[in-house]
Amino acid sequence: IDSVFVNRSLAMEKIKCFGFDMDYTLAVYKSPEYESLGFELTVERLVSIGYPQELLSFVYDPSFPTRGLVFDTMYGNLLKVDAYGNILVCVHGFNFLRGPEIRERYPNKFIQRDDTERFYILNTLFNLPETYLFACLVDFFSNCDRYTSCESGFKNGDLFMSYKSMFQDVRDAVDWVHFKGTLKEKTVENLEKYVVRDGKLPLLLSRMNEVAKVFLATNSDYKYTNVSICIQPGTAHRPWQSYFDLILVDARKPLFFGEGTVLRQVDTITGRLKIGTYTGPLQHGIVYSGGSSDIVCDLLAAKGKDIVYIGDHIFGDILKSKKRQGWRTFLVIPELAQELHVWTDKSRKFVLKHTNTGSVHLDSSSNERPDISTIQRRVKKVTHDMDMCYGMMGSLFRSGSRQTLFASQVMRYADLYAASFINLLYYPFSYLFRAAHVLMPHESTVEHAHMDIDTESPLATRNRTHCSDCKDLDCKRNQLTRSFSEIKPPNLFPQTPQEITHCHDEDDDEEEEEEEEEEE
Ligand SMILES: [Mg+2]
Repeated sequence: IDSVFVNRSLAMEKIKCFGFDMDYTLAVYKSPEYESLGFELTVERLVSIGYPQELLSFVYDPSFPTRGLVFDTMYGNLLKVDAYGNILVCVHGFNFLRGPEIRERYPNKFIQRDDTERFYILNTLFNLPETYLFACLVDFFSNCDRYTSCESGFKNGDLFMSYKSMFQDVRDAVDWVHFKGTLKEKTVENLEKYVVRDGKLPLLLSRMNEVAKVFLATNSDYKYTNVSICIQPGTAHRPWQSYFDLILVDARKPLFFGEGTVLRQVDTITGRLKIGTYTGPLQHGIVYSGGSSDIVCDLLAAKGKDIVYIGDHIFGDILKSKKRQGWRTFLVIPELAQELHVWTDKSRKFVLKHTNTGSVHLDSSSNERPDISTIQRRVKKVTHDMDMCYGMMGSLFRSGSRQTLFASQVMRYADLYAASFINLLYYPFSYLFRAAHVLMPHESTVEHAHMDIDTESPLATRNRTHCSDCKDLDCKRNQLTRSFSEIKPPNLFPQTPQEITHCHDEDDDEEEEEEEEEEE
């Protein structure tokens, strides 16, 4: 649980800046207390704009939602999907649909998830309360006598409420609660209840600050950041600001990683913004508002590859910083502690005992059909039982052997990931995080034995390795040479590289280091 996991190798030695997101990264909200609060306030808001009073009896159930589900605004379903849009789980209200029911609505159990008008990905931990709320609302309206269910919504007399308008109402209510409502107020009033205080945080930040620059880039405003950041003044009694070389609020991620917004200065006494664009150099103690990742690089005199950005938002923090700026990325996945616990504790119980899977040697001439239905049923049962250990929607990362959209994005965009960035405390700053080999099926499931190549086989004609006998090679090349003209190109053939030029691991690249030294 204290480990940092590696998708792509990263040499900590080369890192010149550590960047931080705040919400759910530096300020970790307690679960399920914080989600419950968000849920209650959103329900209250919906009732205040005319939704039925009965909704007030719903209580947030943390065992229902997982992060990364997709809401289908056409049919009102919550979907768990894989990287390509294949449906793994589908739930309508509290009713989990079975295969044939899913296929009625979704041919091939597939969605075109690029259709962002229709499908909304509930990507962040802030989305958990509304994920459960969608299920509550759909279930309530489906089963309430006053309403009749239709394909794309509910009827009540002359009134029609589509899933889409319900979805929009909920989204608006959530935004209202976050920006105009009392969520922030209530959080700040009761920080002990809603925010985790980690005593190790000041130690890690000060150690980071000794070897690199440290900055904060958060979408929250200064006033809220100032109270909720929860860096306990350690023995040194340092104000939280002193741990950072640069503090940037109102970042507007993901826009921040693209064109960004105007960089302004915050008056730290009033919390207001000073007029005009900030154009001065980096100064300790100045709090900035807006700006962009390019501006941050300029102010810190750093390149994208020098920066590790640590955040919890797979899209706004990780995917965008990686894809648009080439930053190194560290994803915080608070659910990982629980996921790992289930995985290490329960997975052994679910290992299928390979009894009689039968090493039957059949080929295309066989009419015999071995009965594999028992095995198939057992695989399904085991997958289901394993899923239920995580929660009603199963694991954040998989359903059985299939990986979720979230898991595939983690592997693709997060160089490192862990339950908390505090885990960095257990590694030296000279550490080389090395990614494990990921083998393709043709590499991992074949036996490594020498094969004699038959000259008739397709292997012989596709053989691309050079002959070790140089004469033979020259001879072959002479045959290939066309002599239409006396004028020849300077190099007739490519030469097999003699030095190490094929570097698979960018962070393990010594030549690059030498080059950098020359530059300096
Ligand atoms: Mg965050």
